[in-house]
Amino acid sequence: DVRHGPILYLEDVTVSFDGFRAIERLNLTIDDGELRCIIGPNGAGKTTMMDIITGKTRPDAGRVWFGSRHDLLTMNEPEIASLGIGRKFQKPTTFEALTVFENLELAMAADKRILPTLTARTTGEVRSRIEEVMTTIGLVELRHRPAGILSHGQKQWLEIGMLLMQRPRLLLVDEPVAGMTEQEMERTAELLTGLAGQQSVVVVEHDMGFVRSIARTVTVLHQGSVLAEGRMDQVSLDPRVVEVYLGA
Ligand code: ADP
Repeated sequence: DVRHGPILYLEDVTVSFDGFRAIERLNLTIDDGELRCIIGPNGAGKTTMMDIITGKTRPDAGRVWFGSRHDLLTMNEPEIASLGIGRKFQKPTTFEALTVFENLELAMAADKRILPTLTARTTGEVRSRIEEVMTTIGLVELRHRPAGILSHGQKQWLEIGMLLMQRPRLLLVDEPVAGMTEQEMERTAELLTGLAGQQSVVVVEHDMGFVRSIARTVTVLHQGSVLAEGRMDQVSLDPRVVEVYLGA
């Protein structure tokens, strides 16, 4: 594992919704270039944690830092996104009528209303980035295919590709293999492990077979805090983890 020091810190972060503590003194450090899996039972606070990192939810207490300089609690969602934090939600948000190429092109444009003039104006630099990203996500041959007729897996990869267009430093990925075939899951494992190193990747996932296949370090959330953290083979033997999550 190549480690370059921390890129994201959450320190003693607490969030309540109407008096209910969804996140309680959460501490998390993600290293630059690492691939981290976050697991935990429903209601553990995984989604809320992602919402805090992207600025969608404000903590009541604690600190959240990105890199050495950026206090994320002083920034709004677009500002945080512009630092290079990309989030992929479970549900794809590709533009169905547009081709793979056009979706990637659009992902690069700050102003989404300019599509009709985009292809004509897209620079060589952007084109070569699109080529690079299409290779990474394995959709080079499907470049002219409308997103609407891609398979479920291909749509998910396209969406990851759309995030990659901006060269993010941290990718947050929510349940990437939900609904995928075995083969699509294997391809997704290759994709995500390949991305780590160039950027940090944080994956929230329920499929333990998939987590086992990609994770170096796993963080187990429970009741809004870190219950255990370490290598999957160690964490999965932790009696507390077995009890709250893996025991079923
Ligand atoms: P997970 O993603 O691990 O399933 P969540 O982060 O979605 O967990 O939820 C953590 C807890 O916080 C749950 O008990 C959930 O019901 C609660 N919660 C999350 N968002 C809200 C909200 N906007 N209002 C009230 N309660 C919420």
